[in-house]
Amino acid sequence: MSSPQPIMEGRPGLTGAADAASTVHVRDLESLARIDLAPLAPRIDREGLYPEAVLRAAGAAGAFRYHLASQNPAGTTDIAAAVDAMAVLSAECMSTGFCAWCQDACAWYVENSANEALKREVLPGLSRGELLGGTGLSNPMKHFSGIENLKLSARPVSGGFVVNGMLPWVSNLGEDHYFAAIFQVEGGDGRAVMALIHCSDEGFSLEPCKEFTALEGTRTFGCRFKDVFVPEDRVLADPVAPFIRRIRSGFILLQMGMGLGVVEGCIRDIRESGQSLSHVNCYLDVQAEDLETSVQDARAALRVLAETPFDESRDYFREVLQLRLAGSELALKASQAAMLHAGARGYLAHAPAQRRLRESYFVAIVTPAIKHIRKELAKLEAA
Ligand SMILES: Cc1cc2nc3c(=O)[nH]c(=O)nc-3n(C[C@H](O)[C@H](O)[C@H](O)COP(=O)(O)OP(=O)(O)OC[C@H]3O[C@@H](n4cnc5c(N)ncnc54)[C@H](O)[C@@H]3O)c2cc1C
Repeated sequence: MSSPQPIMEGRPGLTGAADAASTVHVRDLESLARIDLAPLAPRIDREGLYPEAVLRAAGAAGAFRYHLASQNPAGTTDIAAAVDAMAVLSAECMSTGFCAWCQDACAWYVENSANEALKREVLPGLSRGELLGGTGLSNPMKHFSGIENLKLSARPVSGGFVVNGMLPWVSNLGEDHYFAAIFQVEGGDGRAVMALIHCSDEGFSLEPCKEFTALEGTRTFGCRFKDVFVPEDRVLADPVAPFIRRIRSGFILLQMGMGLGVVEGCIRDIRESGQSLSHVNCYLDVQAEDLETSVQDARAALRVLAETPFDESRDYFREVLQLRLAGSELALKASQAAMLHAGARGYLAHAPAQRRLRESYFVAIVTPAIKHIRKELAKLEAA
């Protein structure tokens, strides 16, 4: 059995990285999650250990390429398989599952762009976990839903754009990571443009966030742009609006991997509690079997929707949002049930139940949050 070494101690910083890939053996994803990731979960959660070695090994095991037809050996856009892989990680540690989603989303944008150079030079590395990346799309997603203004603006210059502004939270970042951002072009037609940013770009800086109550190990930073030159060859979409319509359902469906993984972890915790407490836990409202049925239903719905991720129709998008909402609600229900089944043991600082409770709230607040989804659904109903 390998004993993975953390490459990043404590609160996320930018120094001290060792060779991550060398610390975790290549394994299939299930063993990677169970043997290498599970023991690290409390440290990732409480000490802010960034699971870089696990992420790189997950990439080597193929976890980040299922949804990328150009990288998937089967040649298909298999969102359901990408969700399964993310769920395997999330069932042990949802911080790692969220980093996997960030990675998947970043690669998803490149795959669906018309930027052949990035597809050639960056996408294969992202799909194998050799390059790591994130996504700064919460603010634009909220912007397109009329919730807030775009936080980045850009001045067109010869050969590209000069970008300024600040994104408060972007995860799975580091000095050598990529992430996607969207900025409002000043003047002209007021269009927005999406591009791939590298964290070492001149004028760009990562600012530490205040300590989080969960997801602490996700290397989440504030992203400050001070006259950052973004060359045209890093542009993913210009204008961005049609591109967002194309990628948004995949973006949202992929997030199901976090919620389903947390629920599956909760089911395991409930069964474990039942080994000594079933004589009293049987009086609780929510049992493992109820959650299992819900997970099966959600997976079945996901498989159907995952067949047509590029469907831009209103009805399809409504179903995607409804499933994502159900995923958030199920994660909240399952984690509360797991806490009640665990009792006092679940309240211990290292207990999975209290960690999953905090993780499940992230499923419900990460963009699109429950309130955001409900706003979108109301808009679709009214149209
Ligand atoms: C741990 C963590 C990781 C995240 N990772 C990512 C990521 O990888 N990519 C990404 O795009 N988004 C990320 N987010 C943002 C997330 O997806 C949501 O957009 C965010 O939580 C705000 O959503 P909300 O529904 O609370 O916003 P609302 O309630 O609608 O509004 C909150 C708004 O208030 C402002 N605000 C509130 N508190 C602060 C603060 N402390 N500092 C600055 N502004 C503040 C911001 O403008 C924010 O958008 C992350 C958030 C957290 C907590």
